Amino acid sequence: MKYDVVVIGAGTAGLVSACLLAKQGKRVALVERHRYLGGRAMEHRFRGHQIGLGSHLVEDPGDSLTRVCEFIDVPLRHSARSDSMPFWDRTRWRPIQEFYGGASKQGLKRCIEALTQTSFEDLDRWDHASLREWMAQHTSEEGVFQVWEAISILEQITDKWYDHSASENLYVRKLHYERKRTAGYSFWPMGGWERLWKEMAARFLDLGGTLLQPETVERVLVRDGRVTGVALRGKDPEQRGGGPAGRELIEAEHVLVNAPVWDLPKLFDEGVLPWSLLQRVRLLANNRNKACWLGYWIAAKEPVIAMSELEMASFAATPRTGLGGFTLNFTGYDPGISPAGEYLTCVGAAFDATLHYGNRQWIDRKFHELWLDIEDMLPAARGALWKKPHLVTTYGVVNRPGLVGAVRPDSMVREIEGLWLTGDTTRSRGIGIDKAARTGISASEGVLGGRLGFFADTVRY
Ligand SMILES: Cc1cc2nc3c(=O)[nH]c(=O)nc-3n(C[C@H](O)[C@H](O)[C@H](O)COP(=O)(O)OP(=O)(O)OC[C@H]3O[C@@H](n4cnc5c(N)ncnc54)[C@H](O)[C@@H]3O)c2cc1C
Repeated sequence: MKYDVVVIGAGTAGLVSACLLAKQGKRVALVERHRYLGGRAMEHRFRGHQIGLGSHLVEDPGDSLTRVCEFIDVPLRHSARSDSMPFWDRTRWRPIQEFYGGASKQGLKRCIEALTQTSFEDLDRWDHASLREWMAQHTSEEGVFQVWEAISILEQITDKWYDHSASENLYVRKLHYERKRTAGYSFWPMGGWERLWKEMAARFLDLGGTLLQPETVERVLVRDGRVTGVALRGKDPEQRGGGPAGRELIEAEHVLVNAPVWDLPKLFDEGVLPWSLLQRVRLLANNRNKACWLGYWIAAKEPVIAMSELEMASFAATPRTGLGGFTLNFTGYDPGISPAGEYLTCVGAAFDATLHYGNRQWIDRKFHELWLDIEDMLPAARGALWKKPHLVTTYGVVNRPGLVGAVRPDSMVREIEGLWLTGDTTRSRGIGIDKAARTGISASEGVLGGRLGFFADTVRY
């Protein structure tokens, strides 16, 4: 089999690049090891509710995944956006506006003005520092720090002031102020994620693409400093024939790897990836550098909310766990995701993986405390129909100072011709799925050898 491009992985970035490249006339094979699409943004059904493994809401103000869908004619309808942002203040929920009223409003204004005047490129100088350090140049008001830090808890799952990355958070604030005139824009794709991924895959096939699923790429093949294709993992050597040990070979001039950094090294024979790249990949892939949370999915007969059904609520510390996190009522965004008369809420509390990754005792204790906290903070949860605990360790590499920006692998692997890396763990900005989609566009443009006019005004590296 021979293609122009093999894309490894049908996550967000893989689907984006496969569709863009097929639309531009490339012969593309998209290889996905699972039976489902969307990678970490897949969703499944649980007791009649549509539950996302990932990608609860997407923070795309219109110029990443939304733009891709416009380009390939796949409908992506944004839900209504949140109407409030309650923040937990020790014993009660308060609207976030109360934290920056009166004189401190001027401090917030100064931060917004300064950010408007800072270019996206200049944000790179802040990869080493925290959001608070940048803000402190323009205000000393605690309430103002809290406003943007509360959004960071929701978006980046970091909960200590020194862990909120300046460059990552400022990028998102700037983009959303410029595109949507609001601090944080996020939406649920009406109809859900599974529908969207399936429609993108169907469009890819219409455009002449080939989807190999479920198939696992065992190795990316590299000879004399350039990519020659991939070898699929043999299923049944007798039936398969083809390459060595029954492995089927696919020849291609370009290979785009959508696998996250923790799955990347095993795709290459030893010594193939450049040493410096491999060391950075290992650093980023370390479990202690993962964004983690523990939480509960909760279904109830009435909305389990802080203040309103369409809110994005966050907290810096729950009474017992002391952890910061978020709570979101999904049924408020898209009633179609729950059975009639039921509501689905997700509560998550972020924790520092450098301290607690793999510490089962600590995690069990926090699960127990968190449920008691939820009953106090969101009383409707006491009448829950069911609750489902979840532990998240694959949200992504944590966007902490020092772990963002140029330390992440570029999409082009300069030492190996034809090799491209995509996905949220590579160099990009934004949040989760939005970030992944941006890398899919950039990597496709790399393969095509120039920017696509339709995406000319989008913000990317
Ligand atoms: C619980 C949870 C909640 C989240 N909430 C949000 C949210 O609210 N908002 C948000 O924006 N983001 C959220 N995220 C993050 C978001 O899901 C990810 O950032 C995004 O989906 C990453 O997309 P990707 O394309 O970079 O990678 P992935 O989705 O990881 O895709 C990689 C794909 O490659 C495939 N693959 C890997 N190796 C091989 C191989 N050898 N052969 C074939 N296929 C292979 C994988 O199976 C996978 O399909 C959440 C994540 C989790 C886990």
